[in-house]
Amino acid sequence: MSAGRVATDAAPVWEAVIGLEIHVQLNTRTKMFCGCEVTFGEPPNTHVCPVCLGHPGVLPVTNEKAIEYATRIGLALGCRIAERTIFHRKNYFYPDLPKAYQISQYDLPLGIGGHLDVELDDGSDLRVGITRVHLEEDAGKLVHAGGASGRIDGADYSLVDFNRGGTPLVEIVSEPDIATPDQARAFLTQLRSLVQQLGVSDVNMEEGSMRCDANVSVRRPGEPLGTKTELKNMNSFRFLHRALEVEIERQIDALESGERIIQETVHFDPATGLVSSLRSKEEAHDYRYFPEPDLTPVELDEAYVERVRAGLPELPAGRRERLIGQYGLPSKDAALLAANKPLGDYFEAVAAATGDARLSANWVMGDVSAHLNAAGLEVTQCAVSAGSLAELLGLVRDGTLSGKMAKEVFETMIATGKNARGIVADKGLGQMSDAGELDAIVARIVEANPGPAEEFRQGRDRVLGFFVGQVMKETRGQANPQMVNDLLRRHLAAHGN
Ligand SMILES: [Zn+2]
Repeated sequence: MSAGRVATDAAPVWEAVIGLEIHVQLNTRTKMFCGCEVTFGEPPNTHVCPVCLGHPGVLPVTNEKAIEYATRIGLALGCRIAERTIFHRKNYFYPDLPKAYQISQYDLPLGIGGHLDVELDDGSDLRVGITRVHLEEDAGKLVHAGGASGRIDGADYSLVDFNRGGTPLVEIVSEPDIATPDQARAFLTQLRSLVQQLGVSDVNMEEGSMRCDANVSVRRPGEPLGTKTELKNMNSFRFLHRALEVEIERQIDALESGERIIQETVHFDPATGLVSSLRSKEEAHDYRYFPEPDLTPVELDEAYVERVRAGLPELPAGRRERLIGQYGLPSKDAALLAANKPLGDYFEAVAAATGDARLSANWVMGDVSAHLNAAGLEVTQCAVSAGSLAELLGLVRDGTLSGKMAKEVFETMIATGKNARGIVADKGLGQMSDAGELDAIVARIVEANPGPAEEFRQGRDRVLGFFVGQVMKETRGQANPQMVNDLLRRHLAAHGN
């Protein structure tokens, strides 16, 4: 991969430096500065008013819920929440912005100086600093018609829908602590999960309620930062990963052929796999920021911040630690369960009902997850409830079913919606746990194999496997393995005396 473009001694010749900016639409009932309902997919321009359409003489009013939601995000990311914060006007013209300025935050953002600890694929943690978390309003939405790509290039005309204009947005800016596309994807995935669990946004990337921009530069290790470019509006994890790969590669190629990187906004086209220049990047001074005179400062005292903090749900990082401590789960399993709240809840319900965390985790991470992935379902849509799975695992624990038989029963539960006990009864399943019957079979088999029996007594423990195999063959795999083991050891020992 490009960031790791490798020399023969395996030291990277180039390294990438990546910072992300994520916009999250808050799912408040109303918009940031007016009473219009926040909607998605409604007929165009049906949720608008003089305030969000930027008519003259109107006054915006700050949405208190949006302040609370942004505070939640800030706290969950370990930010310091500003006691006093104000809004600024960010001036620029675009057809989706009727006021010709966006109300945003500038030098007094709501939260600063946080971090997110990201679990990477190899199990290690990467701490990504959070520079700032601030509140602003979204712009409207332009639809470019008549062109092939849906982009403004080649379009015949453009339509504008102001329903989205004025929707509360939280912008989360990371420090440039990310070095590879894989790390960027892991960060975004885990940030998304965190925000989702806070209940403040739908974080649906396809619908645009979560969007990601990336600042990327490359340098030779140890050198100062290179010139960065900005990739805008990446709306899927795959898009982000691919765009970063391509842009990093492009910058390395340019520098290696003696060119310079220009600070600009670039666009990645997934269809061609190429990046193209969009416009030269604006500097902050281009926007002529000035304090929004129509809004009062927002003052958040300690009591308020502590009240919001107390209302936070258990967060993925905390849950992961708890799952490891409480259930002894491996870190990777705990991270997966903590990142997916419904799956974590499902696991904990099964573990509570069975009293066997290890078996429950094996099943939830194994058969249940495999089924959900294959069927494209969330655990909340699973045909086998936590209670039903616990009943099945109870049959494994009491020796009625072997692990292999339980898998079959599970398949049938998925297919028919029947419960485990019903299926076991219908199919006449259930392993042979009748001690008397098994005892007789074991005795006969030991009797019939004096040679291996003698070997076992000489200390060749592995011969036990041969006997287990014989018993399983005799019982067509239905014998309880633990019981077979115990009986064999007893008979083999007794036979020698
Ligand atoms: Zn409005």
